[in-house]
Amino acid sequence: MRILITGGAGFIGSHLCERFLDQGHRVTAMDNLLTGSLANIESLFKNDRFTFIKQDVTQFIHVPGRLDAVLHFASPASPVDYAHYPIPTLKVGALGTHKALGLAKDKGATFMLASTSEVYGDPEVNPQPESYWGHVNPIGPRGVYDEAKRFAEAMAMAYHRFHKIQVRILRIFNTYGERMRKQDGRAVPNFITQALAGKPITVYGDGSQTRSLCYISDLVDGIDRLLRSGINSPVNVGNPQELTIRELAETIRGLTGSRSKIIYKPLPVDDPKQRRPDITLARNKLRWSPKVALRDGLKRTIKYFLETR
Ligand code: UDP
Repeated sequence: MRILITGGAGFIGSHLCERFLDQGHRVTAMDNLLTGSLANIESLFKNDRFTFIKQDVTQFIHVPGRLDAVLHFASPASPVDYAHYPIPTLKVGALGTHKALGLAKDKGATFMLASTSEVYGDPEVNPQPESYWGHVNPIGPRGVYDEAKRFAEAMAMAYHRFHKIQVRILRIFNTYGERMRKQDGRAVPNFITQALAGKPITVYGDGSQTRSLCYISDLVDGIDRLLRSGINSPVNVGNPQELTIRELAETIRGLTGSRSKIIYKPLPVDDPKQRRPDITLARNKLRWSPKVALRDGLKRTIKYFLETR
């Protein structure tokens, strides 16, 4: 296959580039490097099946030649980034999705959308199945991401129904691993960076809010299976093992051998109180479930943070 990955220089995008190159495919990464980094894909340039295009995906996309799949993974993805780049976040989810869908249609390619558990907002049901419509504040600070992704899902379904193109809508739950930006503001990189520096670990609120964390290699396996499936409706991909943010802070402190204090800071606006994927659909239809235990994934991530300090 020849595959285009928007956001290919980002955390998840770069792992996807690597996976599909390893499988013998040709991969083109497209990225404007707003939150992505060439360091993430540096090792791929020696592969003659890899190409990189520096482009903002909200502008008209021209890619010469055949394409079998367009994977739209470009977007800021951390609440801190949404605050810094609210309009680029809206644009890449809305206008960027439109451009990427137009390209997929033109090439007769399968389109995959990196959607998100944020489409469920601050959910009132736990765990969240794909059939749940969500509880989202459209005008809050996270609304720029949540609503852009909801629009993107609507757009992908419209292209599927109206233009009959194949779409894959992947709802990604919290994912962590190597190549996360240390300064991206999310819990895992913040806690690891703070613990390794012996600085206070900043838990927001009282730390009783929950998340369910999926290690990057498990997510990539799920993506690979979803792409090859015939499922055009949304599929949750995430790890259903739920823990509180306080537990996460304590686990990371333990694994780093740090003596950092845990301190409490105000909870950001609209911070979801609970989040856990119902992965029945992925289990049954993709024969997928996560394999990497939290402690093992965190150890690998901590090693990466130490090596790239
Ligand atoms: N969080 C925290 N301390 C930090 C960063 C994040 O307590 O330094 C909390 C955040 O308020 C949220 C959870 O950790 O409740 C996960 O946040 P993250 O930014 O990783 O992702 P989210 O799931 O909110 O998109």
